[in-house]
Amino acid sequence: MGYKNRLDLHAHTDNSFDGKHSAIFLCETAAEKGLRAVAFTDHVEMDFFREQNFDRTALQSYFELVKARSAFRGKLVVCAGVELGEPTYNLPEAEALIHQYSYDIVIGSIHNLRGKKDFWFLPYNEYDDSHIAALLREYFDELLLLAQWGKFDTLAHLTYPLRYICGEHGFTVNLTDYAQQIDAVLEAAAKNNLALEINTSGLRQKLGQPMPSEFFVRRFKQLGGKKITIGSDAHFAEHLGMGIEQGMDLALRCGFTHLTLFQGREPVQIEIC
Ligand SMILES: [Zn+2]
Ligand SMILES: [Zn+2]
Repeated sequence: MGYKNRLDLHAHTDNSFDGKHSAIFLCETAAEKGLRAVAFTDHVEMDFFREQNFDRTALQSYFELVKARSAFRGKLVVCAGVELGEPTYNLPEAEALIHQYSYDIVIGSIHNLRGKKDFWFLPYNEYDDSHIAALLREYFDELLLLAQWGKFDTLAHLTYPLRYICGEHGFTVNLTDYAQQIDAVLEAAAKNNLALEINTSGLRQKLGQPMPSEFFVRRFKQLGGKKITIGSDAHFAEHLGMGIEQGMDLALRCGFTHLTLFQGREPVQIEIC
C-alpha cells in the first residue's frame, strides 16, 4: 500500500451510456486522488456501431478527451482511449476506427456473444448449469479470436461474465473446467504482445475479486505475458482509482515489477512503487 505510481487505465466519462461525469470533472477528481495517470475509455460497441450511434459517441468522446488531456498537461497524465467492444464482430469498422483517431490506448473487450445481449442482461432465471457452461465456452472462444486479432493494447476484464453469473446470480463456476481455453487466450495475448488488464471493479462488486483473479494473472506471466494494466472501470468519480493499490499488490505477487502506460499507443513501463 502507499504506492506513488498509481495508474487507472480504464474509466468512463458521460460519453458512455452508463457513465455519469464529464472528462474534466473526472480529471479534477483523479488529480485530487493523487493518481499519476488516468485513461478514459468510453464504450464503442462495434457490433452496434451505427445502429446505436457509437460512431457519434466515438467522435464526441475523443474530442472531449483530447481537450481534457491538454487542459491537465503538467498536472496529470490523461490518456485518450477507447473501450472497443466486440471488434471481432465488425472488423472493417473496428480497424477503420482505430486509425481514424490518434488514441493513446485501445482496450479490447467482449461484453456479449454474437446475436446475444450483454452478459449483464441475460435471462439467468431460465438457465441451468449446462447453459452457463455453454455460454462460458463460447465466451472464451470469442476472447481467443479477439486476442488472435490483437490490434489493441490491453485485454479487458477477462472473466467478465462471472460478474453476473456468479456475482449477481449466484451460480458456482469452476474455472479449471475452462483452463485450456483460458491458457489459449493468455498465450495468444502474450504472443501478440498485448497487456493483460487487472480490472478491479469486481473487488467493489458482489463478485468480490478482480477480473481476472490472481491465478490467471500469474498464469499470464508463466505463459510469457510481459505487460499489465490496471483499471477501476469507474463509471462515477467516486470509483476512480478504486482497487488500484490492491491490483498493484497482486501484480507484484505475480512477478510483474512494472505497470504499462500507453501514450500514442506506445507502451511506457512504470515501476510499481
Ligand atoms: Zn467493459
Ligand atoms: Zn469499461
